[in-house]
Amino acid sequence: MTVSSRVTEPADAAARRAVKPVVVYPNGTLPQPDMATLERVRATLEKTDEVIVPPRSGRTFRVPKGHFFRIVSIEGPQVGDLNLWNADNLSERFFSGKTRALHATHVSTGDRLWSNMPSLRPMATITHDTLGWYGFDADGGGVHDVIGTRCDPYTHRLLSGGTYDHCCHSNLTDALSEATGLPFKEAEPFVHDVLNVFMCTGFTKDTKQYFMKASPVRPGDFIEFFAEIDLLGGLSACPGGDCSSTHSSDIAACYPLKVEIFRPDLSLLADWPFPEVNGYQPPSCR
Ligand SMILES: [Zn+2]
Repeated sequence: MTVSSRVTEPADAAARRAVKPVVVYPNGTLPQPDMATLERVRATLEKTDEVIVPPRSGRTFRVPKGHFFRIVSIEGPQVGDLNLWNADNLSERFFSGKTRALHATHVSTGDRLWSNMPSLRPMATITHDTLGWYGFDADGGGVHDVIGTRCDPYTHRLLSGGTYDHCCHSNLTDALSEATGLPFKEAEPFVHDVLNVFMCTGFTKDTKQYFMKASPVRPGDFIEFFAEIDLLGGLSACPGGDCSSTHSSDIAACYPLKVEIFRPDLSLLADWPFPEVNGYQPPSCR
């Protein structure tokens, strides 16, 4: 007997494909942040700190609960890879996959960055995005994706055989190691899939492959977040620069990024429902 790998379409293939899609997490069931209150709070922001992330490197920053932070394009178009941790517990960190499922492939004002299980709560809410006008372009591309992972030396080695030590994964690990005192190898497992700030990405229409194209970001553009919990952030200025052609090398033009921290009039947040960890308790017998 021979085993065939041939696949044939069933007679009702067209009918099976024609079934209407259903949004997995209907938008109406996701608790919405009170953006009107956040807009009033934004009017009171006072800058308390800033961090410059040099090209092809990473830095960390701390944002107390109730404060805001902005990632700002300066000098030239540049993509950033963002990690977020609970400042008191590195095991709670940004969960890009669930954020994608709850919101969309790309995020903007009003969307939230969710933490991993078992906490599963909003870590930050996006309060302003100067690239919010971009939407989805004719190629299906959008800005600020939660579909990519981060450039890393392991994939680079797998695909090209080369070594490159300034990938976002390495930059974020270096920065976390510096901030926590953990050795590189102990810090590395806490680095996670990112929010690709300013990066323009999508899936090709025919083969659904992940693509990138030159970021539309220009100096002065920024994306702003409200910290729902005490945050430790990590940001890498990607060696891909505007990610128009290449990454994991020193070829692309790269620019620094600026992170700005702001304190609002905290009395305006007296009634803000800062999120607790998710209340679900798994059965104790497991
Ligand atoms: Zn990168």
